[in-house]
Amino acid sequence: MSNSRRIFMLGSSAAALTAMFARSAGAQERQPLREDEAQAREFHYVSNADKVDPKKFPDFKAGDRCSKCQIYEDGPNDMGACPLFANRLVAAAGWCTSFG
Ligand code: SF4
Repeated sequence: MSNSRRIFMLGSSAAALTAMFARSAGAQERQPLREDEAQAREFHYVSNADKVDPKKFPDFKAGDRCSKCQIYEDGPNDMGACPLFANRLVAAAGWCTSFG
């Protein structure tokens, strides 16, 4: 095997490992979204769907929650990822006005 091929393979392996660790670190660094944050308030996010007032949000139906939302990505500790709130975690029991 030529030196340039060895260097290429080592570089490729290092890049793959770096990407893998970056993804892993990114997932661990995600913080729960707080209801008082601007982006949460914009979508009326709550971490407990039981707190939603159906009179204020007529589209809300009993049982609606993040864990049943089409874009929710389940994660550990009853939290998950939501593409609406990049790099943050939302509660499985949560809800927002973009539920679907
Ligand atoms: S879009 Fe869905 S998963 Fe994301 S916060 Fe709203 S209800 Fe939860």
